[in-house]
Amino acid sequence: MGYLEHLLTSKGISTVTRRLRAILRQLGPTPARMRRTLDAYMDVADAFAFHPTFPTPAVVVDRYPRLIRHLVERGADIAIHGLEHVDYVHIPPEEQQRHVEEAIRIFRKRGIPFSGFRAPYLRWDASLLDALRTHRVGYDSSSAVLWDVLPDPLPPDAEARVRRVLEFYDPRPAAEGPVLPSWEEGILRLPVSLPDDEILVDRMGKGGEEVGRVWSAILERTYRRGDLFVLQLHPERFFACEGGLRLLLEEVRGRTPPVWTASLAEIARWWRRKQQLHVTVETLGPRQWRVRVPGDGEVGLLVRGMTTTPASVPWYGSWRYVPSSEAIVTGPTRPTVGVTSDVHPRVLRFLRDLGYITETAAPDHVLVVREREGSPEARRRLLQRLEESRVPLVRLNRWPRDSRSALAVTGDLDAVTWWDFLRRLGR
Ligand SMILES: [Zn+2]
Repeated sequence: MGYLEHLLTSKGISTVTRRLRAILRQLGPTPARMRRTLDAYMDVADAFAFHPTFPTPAVVVDRYPRLIRHLVERGADIAIHGLEHVDYVHIPPEEQQRHVEEAIRIFRKRGIPFSGFRAPYLRWDASLLDALRTHRVGYDSSSAVLWDVLPDPLPPDAEARVRRVLEFYDPRPAAEGPVLPSWEEGILRLPVSLPDDEILVDRMGKGGEEVGRVWSAILERTYRRGDLFVLQLHPERFFACEGGLRLLLEEVRGRTPPVWTASLAEIARWWRRKQQLHVTVETLGPRQWRVRVPGDGEVGLLVRGMTTTPASVPWYGSWRYVPSSEAIVTGPTRPTVGVTSDVHPRVLRFLRDLGYITETAAPDHVLVVREREGSPEARRRLLQRLEESRVPLVRLNRWPRDSRSALAVTGDLDAVTWWDFLRRLGR
């Protein structure tokens, strides 16, 4: 499918004309205009001390290596956004393999470090994930989740346009379960949160702080749940949304406990490292344990219904934070989650991803998990049970130190000049 065809089927004619006009304004005949935009994007990132991620097609990296290197030097994380900006669902598996391989070759040739991938149009299938596994790409950020933050019903003029794009992206409703990094047979998936800049600006006609208010509503939901918010703001819409981005980041800055703002590469590294952690729980007496987390203190300990040395401080809800990677815990029952030997491995991983410390079920465990089914439904049931439980426990924070939730600001850098855009139309 060509880009023009994509625009027409997913967007409709009125969105397409608006889009073409915007593209002409935001790109230029040389990289100069996009470079100014990207520098302004990076200035905001510097002001709020985070690293954004720019998924970029390898052909664009190949055409503008100096610009991309400049972004890397300024602290940006560059992800592979396909070899070219094509819909991979319409490309046969062997071609997908070739594209991933060739894209990696170009990134290496141009000296651009990368650790992950995002499919153009957020369109992926099982064979594309296979290609990423084959080539050991560290993460994939192509799946989408939809937060319940748009007006219901939508304004009549926007309704058809928004519905069309949602059918195209096929997002999972965020209400269905935690929005976190998750492993899918060896590949780490970092879902993108919708609505993104494209839906809000092109399809709903919003701009500036209005966009910020929608993103703040997503932030509020991810914060409440301790989830991951991967925001999508394409550089070409940066100026249309800059006010909204600043509004969101001001709000992030004001939160205690904090929101961890990081690149997708940093988040993937963190999740991988956390998975390899081995926590020890040593029994010191009938009601006392020593909990020890290896490492440099980046992994935070949370506690509920128990006293600790060193003392804990208030954190979020009924949980308190222990400012140490080692603590002596005193309480009425064993502070971990007991699991039976036949628990489904996916359930076990889910518990660990949420930060629960699991041990083989013992008589002094109050919370024992026996879930033999690994289905999403079983995990949802379990999550509800854990959240409603008031059992005294110690667990690990899922984000670094005392962070409550995580935010990644990402923006697909699809085209740098008019000519990149025209090349896409011609395909
Ligand atoms: Zn793209």
